[in-house]
Amino acid sequence: MTASIGRVVVLLGAPGAGKGTQAQILSEKLGLAHVATGDLFRAAVRDQTPLGVTAKGFMDRGELVPDAVTIEMLLERLAKPDAEAGILLDGFPRNTAQAEVLDKALGDKGGRVNVAPLIEVPEPELVSRLGGRWICRAQGHPYHLQGKPPKQAGICDVDGSELYQRDDDKPETVQARLRQQLGALEQVVGYYRDHGVLATVDGTTGIENVSKDLLAAIEPAIGSRS
Ligand code: AMP
Repeated sequence: MTASIGRVVVLLGAPGAGKGTQAQILSEKLGLAHVATGDLFRAAVRDQTPLGVTAKGFMDRGELVPDAVTIEMLLERLAKPDAEAGILLDGFPRNTAQAEVLDKALGDKGGRVNVAPLIEVPEPELVSRLGGRWICRAQGHPYHLQGKPPKQAGICDVDGSELYQRDDDKPETVQARLRQQLGALEQVVGYYRDHGVLATVDGTTGIENVSKDLLAAIEPAIGSRS
């Protein structure tokens, strides 16, 4: 771990709630390192590292990767220098055990979870969003065939790389992923509610409004960048 860790935001939401899109916007606006465990796993799978080989089967089936593997990867990421100014976590923690490990790791560095905003989206909307989601090969920038199409079909607006559909966004996997992950999300939401840091935001009002509402929930908890 770095010597210390600054502000910590845990962005919560079901798969398809818009966490990835909002995390990119917020991390830039707030000067926080965007740490997405799903992105870290996809990079490991692409690079065929031992971690990637272990994770791939779980990911393809829409299951969570075991905690021991996930936590080790997360702690390694938090040790990088850019985490010192503060982090925005996206996709971690996914259960109470992970939330407890995170609290302990942050506590050792004099930090804590400052705020855990939850992006709320009803389940039928999640299913339709996930089925239309495509992401770019280079950096995982997310698009939606109806909701947020790229300017040029099949090409990322940001970096020009090819867009593809994740295996776990294919229809046969979407339901299984949601069923497992909504249950786990409830646990994590309850954990942060009990710790007094949960903030709930309506995720169905459009990307810009959701960003505004998230900033309004986060900024008082972490202070502004300057
Ligand atoms: P995501 O991009 O956050 O939807 O994550 C994609 C996949 O990576 C998930 O379906 C899991 O298989 C795995 N994954 C990501 N984050 C975690 C985590 N915190 N714990 C366990 N598995 C995870």
